Amino acid sequence: MQIDISSSTITLAPAGLLAVQDGAGTRVLIDPVISCGICYRCRRDLAHLCGNGALQGRDVDGGFAEFAAVDESCLHEIPDSVSADEAALLQVLSTCVHAQSVLPGPAGPAGDSAVVIGLGVAGLLHIQLLRARGVSPVIAVTGSAWKRELALRSGASRCW
Ligand SMILES: [Zn+2]
Repeated sequence: MQIDISSSTITLAPAGLLAVQDGAGTRVLIDPVISCGICYRCRRDLAHLCGNGALQGRDVDGGFAEFAAVDESCLHEIPDSVSADEAALLQVLSTCVHAQSVLPGPAGPAGDSAVVIGLGVAGLLHIQLLRARGVSPVIAVTGSAWKRELALRSGASRCW
């Protein structure tokens, strides 16, 4: 599968990762945030909140499309030490880390508890991050039995 990026041609690799043809197989990850770069929020380093923006793969063609245009500045090379499976989680993991950065303290104070509602990839990563912060109990909520089992294996204390 080929993707046309400006004057470069890149090839889709497993897990939505891209290989830059000019870079002879260089694996890259796409930052899916598309922003205008000139609005109030963009000029204040809040491009992820750009009112004129979009998301690659949601608002414009992404990894499942036969062709998609991606700004070269949105491509990040993946080191050889990071597997394709690990790299596929980096964007959502970074979103979860950012979301938890507003929680108090570098580690949750002893006795803190949390409830994670919804156990998609982000929910499961939130459970692991909360446990790593020392938060306990972490209670997971979903309507799916197999996701409850996955949440327990990911460190949830209890599931509903
Ligand atoms: Zn903007």
